[in-house]
Formats: sequence, C-alpha cells, structure tokens
Amino acid sequence: MFGLILSTTPAQSRTRGLIKRDFCGYLTIYTELDLEDSKDKRVKVCLRGRELLRNSILNKGSAFTQEEREKLGLDGLLPPHVSTMDQQLARRYANFLECGNDLGKYHFLTDLQNRNETLFYRFCSDHVVETLPYIYTPVVGDASLNFSLHYHHSRGIYIPYDKKDQMETILKNAGKKDVSVIVATDGGRILGLGDVGVGGMTIPIGKTSLYTLFGGVAPESVLPIFLDVGTDNQELLKDPLYMGRREKRITGDDYFAFMDAFVAAVKKVFPKAMLQWEDLLGVHAQKVLDRYRDDILSFNDDIQGTASVVLAGLLSALKMKGSALAEEKIAIFGGGAAGLGVGKSIYRYLIHNGMEEKEARDRIHIIDRNGLTYIGQKNLREEHELFAKEKPSEYDDVISVDETIKCFDITILIGASAQKGAFTEKTIEGLLKNTSTPVVFPLSNPHTKAEATPEMIINVSKGKAIVATGTAFPQVVYKGKVFAIGQCNNVYIFPGIGLFTSAFDIKTIPEEFFYIAGETLSEISPPLLFPEFKNLKEASKQIAFEIAKYAALKGLIKEKDESSILRRIETSMWYPKYFPYD
Ligand code: NAD
Repeated sequence: MFGLILSTTPAQSRTRGLIKRDFCGYLTIYTELDLEDSKDKRVKVCLRGRELLRNSILNKGSAFTQEEREKLGLDGLLPPHVSTMDQQLARRYANFLECGNDLGKYHFLTDLQNRNETLFYRFCSDHVVETLPYIYTPVVGDASLNFSLHYHHSRGIYIPYDKKDQMETILKNAGKKDVSVIVATDGGRILGLGDVGVGGMTIPIGKTSLYTLFGGVAPESVLPIFLDVGTDNQELLKDPLYMGRREKRITGDDYFAFMDAFVAAVKKVFPKAMLQWEDLLGVHAQKVLDRYRDDILSFNDDIQGTASVVLAGLLSALKMKGSALAEEKIAIFGGGAAGLGVGKSIYRYLIHNGMEEKEARDRIHIIDRNGLTYIGQKNLREEHELFAKEKPSEYDDVISVDETIKCFDITILIGASAQKGAFTEKTIEGLLKNTSTPVVFPLSNPHTKAEATPEMIINVSKGKAIVATGTAFPQVVYKGKVFAIGQCNNVYIFPGIGLFTSAFDIKTIPEEFFYIAGETLSEISPPLLFPEFKNLKEASKQIAFEIAKYAALKGLIKEKDESSILRRIETSMWYPKYFPYD
C-alpha cells in the first residue's frame, strides 16, 4: 500500500486552477493550471526504500535528492551522485543508441517505462520521432509476434474467458481507482498480422502510452486490457511457450455474453473510464461498437479513429489539389473494420454537409475479396449492402479494382485489405485517366502488407499523386523533388479524444466528434497532409478543445465558455516532471 499527497505552500494554495485527482484510494494528486506556478509543489509519499524504487509511477531513480534519500529510506540503495533529469536523459539516450536492433530498442523503452514512467515519457517526448516507431507501429507488431518469448513484466490486466465471473475482482487487482482511459483488445486481428493471441497485448500497452504521451492522460489513469477468448492461431496453440489461453476462440453468443460481463464490470469498477476497443476480429468490431456505444463511454479506434484520420488526410489532400470531397469518386479496397468504417464515415460526413443520401452513397465504392460489391452479388455481406452498386453488364461476376476505377471514374483510392501489392502500376495509370491528381492511401499495416509503395505511386504518376500510408515509409525523390510521405496514423486522433473524455463529464461519444477531430487536424496541418509528430501534444489539445466547444454548443457538457473549456483541458493534462517528495 502506498500513498502520495501533494502539499502546497500557503502562497501556492492561492494559485488558480487546482484540481484534485484521486488514485488508488491512497494517493491524491493535484494538478495546477499553470505548471510554472507549481515550482514549490511538494508531494507526500508513503512508500519507502526499495518499494519506492520499484514503483514506476513514483520512482525517480538517481534523481532522488540527498534529503529525499535520507527521509525515504533510500540511502545506500543508489549510487551516490544525485542526477538531474537532463543527466538521466543523456544516459538513457546513449543506451538507446547502443541497442542493436528494433526489438532491442523496443525492450529498452519498455524497461524504462516499467522502472520510471516520468523519465520514460520525458525521454519519448524529447525524442518523439525516434521513439514513436518503437512505442507503436511498426515495431510493436514484431513485439506482438514475440510476446511469449520475451515476456518479462506485468503491465495492464489479462482477463481469460474462464474467469468471466470474476471480472470485477480482476479489474480491482489493477490497483487503480481513477482510471480514465482503457484500451481493450481480444487480439483477434492485430494490425495486418491476424490472430496473434495474447501477443496482442502489446497494442493496448502501446496505445495507452500514447494517450499519456500525446493526450496528457496521467500514466496512473490509463489501463491496457487483454480479453483472452482464446486463439485460432494453430502455431500458437501448439507452442509450448505460448502464454495465452490454449483454447480455440470463443465466438457467437458466448463471446457477446463475455463482452456483456466485461462492460458491466468496467462500468462498476471504473465508472469514469472511456473504453477504447482495439483490433477486434473484423466480424466482431462493428457489432461490439454498436452494442455498447450508448451503454458505456466508448469507441472503436480501428473504425472511428481510422475514419477520422483518413477524413483529415483527404481534406488536406483536396486542399492541395484544389478540390472538394463532394467532387470526388472514392474506392475503398478492403471492406473490413477500417475500410467500411472509412466508407461510412465519409458517407455520413457528406450528408452532414448537405449532400443527398443517394448521391453520397453513389460516390463510395467498396471492393472486397469478391471484387466490387454490387446488388445481387453472390455472398454479398450484409454490411456491404449500403454501398452495393448496380452491376455494369459488360463485366464478369468479379469486378477488379482496375475495372472499378475505369467503370466508375474513381479519383481517390484507399487500401485497407492487408494485401501487399494489390495496387499495381496499371491501377495508378487507371486513376490518372480520371484525374490529373489522384489521391492514393495504401493504409495497410505493417509496411509488408501495404497495397503499394509510395515510391511506385509517385514514379508512375510522375509526382502527381498525393500519397499517405498507414505506417511510416521513407520519403521519395522523383526528378530531384522530395516527397515526404504522410502517415495516416490514428495517433493524430485518439489522444485528443481521450484528453477530451478525461477532462469532461460526458456519457457517450457521438459520431460528429470524429468529424470535428478530422477537420481540426486538417486545419492545423501544414501544407503536408499531417502535422509533425513533435507537435502532436498541441494537436491533441486543439482537437479536444474543438470537440469540447461543439459539445458545449449541444449542451453535452456543463462548461459553456471557451476560457473555462480551455482551463479544464489544461488542468487535466499531465506533464513528465519530478516534484520534491516528503
Ligand atoms: P479487417 O480484417 O476487418 O478487414 C480487411 C478486409 O480486407 C476484409 O473485409 C477482407 O475480406 C478484405 N480483403 C482481404 N483480401 C482481400 C482482397 N484480395 N481484395 C479485397 N479485399 C480483401 O481488417 P481492418 O481492421 O479493416 O484492417 C485492414 C488493414 O488496414 C490492416 O492492415 C490494418 O493495419 C490497416 N489499418 C490501417 C489504419 C491506418 O492507417 N490508420 C487504421 C486501421 C487499420
């Protein structure tokens, strides 16, 4: 058991904007509006000695002062020199550079996070471009494949199917009280890698870290959760070292009964938490979202976050092109959680902006395993019916992406199929017959699954196409001109959503919030498609602010004026800095 109580000097207690967050029942943290005013802030901790060093939230490592070492039973447990945070950061950066390969860097950062979260987040924000690929895509994908072999530290919560009657107890075991963001997955479809079983836990761990890094949600207030309903990955089932539940995946009514119990337990144990669904199996993703979206504060990042960042990318691309979404014809290759989510979101966005329903529907084309979806198609999936087209009589039963482009004058092509190389040179040439500036977003992750490389698209289009990918790709040089490749990464959106839901008392997340997030992101982006990663915390703040203004207008939150909205957001943001301990 440990405790932390912040005490302030008399002068400080008069500082404006003190808010209180309760954590664990034992620990109370006060955050102040103006961090510069908080120089005299002191923190009372009840942990001592090695227990304090082992607590990743409270640990400061070699930065504990001499006075703290004497008071808190740390004398002799650390090398004598008291380091500044800058010295700690310099050492860690040298260590980071020493790591031989990608997984080495991933594990180095994970270890740092498990030892000292304040230093980890400060390190990652100081080296954001270098560290982001290791905290999240693409390296987190490799880590998910190697999870059982490399597992060495507990983070988050695992709920196996056979413990479905003990969910509340398990959630309480997290030792957290004031959880404001949960990321939960069942590992069904991790990135484009498929069913990786319990290895999927690397994704909620990575995403909760990004809620802290860019959304300013305090590290003690985020919780990654793995819902272990089994795996259908035969190799994992046979692997003697596999650490997940060694049973086939639960499906159908049993799956939903498990999810019902989970949602009920979250509502009870963490009533203020926002629940983000992550990388669920395609057949479950939309159903889970629809089933619980009015019941618990929740959203699905693969569906709604992707749709929002793609909307932002398209709006930015069309600004560069000098066109409008309402003038374009869009084809989406891969009508699963992400692709269909993007399609539906663009459809609703067009209607939201005044287009007739039929026209909006006609502008969006879904291409799945059996080619373009059309009315009367054999095995047409129910969820594809909305966008099913009249079948052009001159084509065979399977209408390919190239035929769709030609027949329906497609100008924007989005890939969310995890089918490497599905867009060929011929595909790009087809688009160029319909428009001088095609917009092509091969979004599938990791890079080994991308539908096309930016290099091919830019070369074939002679530098005309506007390209964004799902994962980082190197810049392309065509005839001496450098093309930076925008990364259509959900990380631009979800931290801002989490910041908003953490700062305000809100019950549900309406679809319009994702339009606002997309529009805001596009507005604050430079002439490139997206802002630079180093500006992500500011971008999240702006997104939270614009959503809150809309929510205030609709009477969804009690704050009314812009200054109290901003103040609410700023006071709820956590920053990685050390405070003196008593
Ligand atoms: P999913 O499994 O739900 O959907 C994939 C879809 O592709 C399915 O409908 C499947 O039938 C279809 N498909 C498979 N083979 C095909 C083929 N040959 N032709 C046409 N369609 C085919 O997965 P998802 O969650 O939608 O994710 C798909 C991909 O998008 C993944 O690689 C994922 O990493 C990526 N993604 C990227 C972003 C982003 O860039 N921001 C966000 C989410 C997902």
